[in-house]
Amino acid sequence: MNFVEVIARKRDGVELSSEEIREFVQGAASGTLPDVQLAAMLMAICIRGATPGETRHLVQAMTDSGERWELARSFPGVVDKHSTGGVGDTVSLVLAPWLVACGVPVAMMAGASLGHTQGTLDKLAAIPGFAAAASREEAFQRLERCGAVLARQSARIAPADAKLYALRDVTATVPSLPLIVASIMSKKLAVGAGKLVLDVKCGSGAFRKTLPEARELAAALVEVARAAGVAVRAVISAMDEPLGPALGTACEVREALACLEGRGDARLLELSRELVVRGLLLSGHAPERAEALAAEALASGKARACWDAIVLAHGGNPDPSLLAQPAQQHEVLAEAEGYVVGVDGETLGWVAVALGAGRRFPQDQVDPGAFLRVLVRQGERVRVGQPLAVLAWSQRQVDPQTLASRVRRAFRLGEAAPASTPLVLEELG
Ligand code: URA
Ligand code: CA
Repeated sequence: MNFVEVIARKRDGVELSSEEIREFVQGAASGTLPDVQLAAMLMAICIRGATPGETRHLVQAMTDSGERWELARSFPGVVDKHSTGGVGDTVSLVLAPWLVACGVPVAMMAGASLGHTQGTLDKLAAIPGFAAAASREEAFQRLERCGAVLARQSARIAPADAKLYALRDVTATVPSLPLIVASIMSKKLAVGAGKLVLDVKCGSGAFRKTLPEARELAAALVEVARAAGVAVRAVISAMDEPLGPALGTACEVREALACLEGRGDARLLELSRELVVRGLLLSGHAPERAEALAAEALASGKARACWDAIVLAHGGNPDPSLLAQPAQQHEVLAEAEGYVVGVDGETLGWVAVALGAGRRFPQDQVDPGAFLRVLVRQGERVRVGQPLAVLAWSQRQVDPQTLASRVRRAFRLGEAAPASTPLVLEELG
């Protein structure tokens, strides 16, 4: 088969066969198809969409592109968690030690930063020495040592997603529903935890901006999980303003530690607690017991202690004073007054990327010290001259004035205080 013809069929809206999808995925995993053809196919899928059958074949082919670890066979209680991507979304770093402290083993295949979002894998890389597990043996060893494994894709596991994810990141093909479903679920199925908590983000800082779009993604993810025999709970959560105040890598590790020490951001802590409780419900705990277990694990300091154990088991140094600090900082001051009635999370995410907290092209280095920290929340009243955010960077050439005006435009000010909106918008599963 000439792959140009396959791309042309997808471009013209023809449904691809499972063989054609397999050729695409294997070509991505093995490197036999060039990036230009992979990118063209990604754009065709992004624009044309995919039928449920095509999405199923894509998930299957991407899962089969590497090893299957079948972790649930050896660790039957193991719970996995994944977010569809947002800004200030530090939940995974808070949730993993918290669930372990509640007696629940955790396995997560973390992703690198994608588009305007900061990925868990890059946040973990800000911890000196931290090595995410890349083989089944490493995953087993870390689960046995500390009750959790944070894994990454490699040439062995989910290699097709590793390749396609990096290409999507630089070709504006991230928001596609079938590509998100296949990316997430191929990693989940390759790791093989039997239980999954999904956090589907909805809003300006997410890849799916509206509730109908987020619902469609949540339903598709839940359907694929169920069909594969995975017990799943999904929430749709608000992602307009950043969840936690920090957008970056080292700074988000610090923010997670603050939450585990009971002094972190209230919204980040609240959503982390909601998702920890969902994990405990999947583990068979009754709702009241789940709430009590979660509260006790945090208040006793057990969750905080589990963080250090997880970092050590992954070869990292848990000393927070070793986390990178930025060389330069710039405060963004408000030039108008009013209530913050809307926040454009995606714009803030792109500013964080520009500062060095993400990649603009595949070979780009992430600067662990770079961050954007928001200082005001939706619903707050802002005065002229009040700091809205802090920009921080060390390695990149940045123009702080240009970035500051982008940040100012991301905060929409109005005359009246907006109604407050819940963090968890809906729940499925
Ligand atoms: N997270 C992923 O792992 N993949 C996506 O495509 C989006 C979010
Ligand atoms: Ca954060």
